[in-house]
Amino acid sequence: MSGKNLTAVSIASTRTTQIIDITKDVADSVKRTAISNGICFVYVPHTTAAVTINENADPDVKSDIIMGLENIVPDDPGYAHAEGNSPAHIKSSIIGSSVNILIEDGQLVLGTWQGIYFCEFDGPRSRKVYVRVMAG
Ligand code: ZN
Repeated sequence: MSGKNLTAVSIASTRTTQIIDITKDVADSVKRTAISNGICFVYVPHTTAAVTINENADPDVKSDIIMGLENIVPDDPGYAHAEGNSPAHIKSSIIGSSVNILIEDGQLVLGTWQGIYFCEFDGPRSRKVYVRVMAG
């Protein structure tokens, strides 16, 4: 799937649970379009992964998010789903499958401490993130 204003970013996660900074990939996808003002829609087409925006300064924030999610969603053998990865499905739904970022003068409008993160919950796997840019 591709188009003038649609980019598929490939991601190779290397761990079971991993938060990967994709800010530069998204910014590059925006630059490849001719759109300088609008909205960037970032979408993860997977049921055991997610995307979020959070702090990009202290790497402890990433590991704390992972620890917090593991506290909320324990590896409980009582889950019914036969594939055995229900915690990954639940974490994916908690974090969500998309984020929107404003674009101004060709740049992502992010706060000083914000980065865009792909969240792997059932890796390692080859993943895709779709970036769609809309003028407006
Ligand atoms: Zn499953």
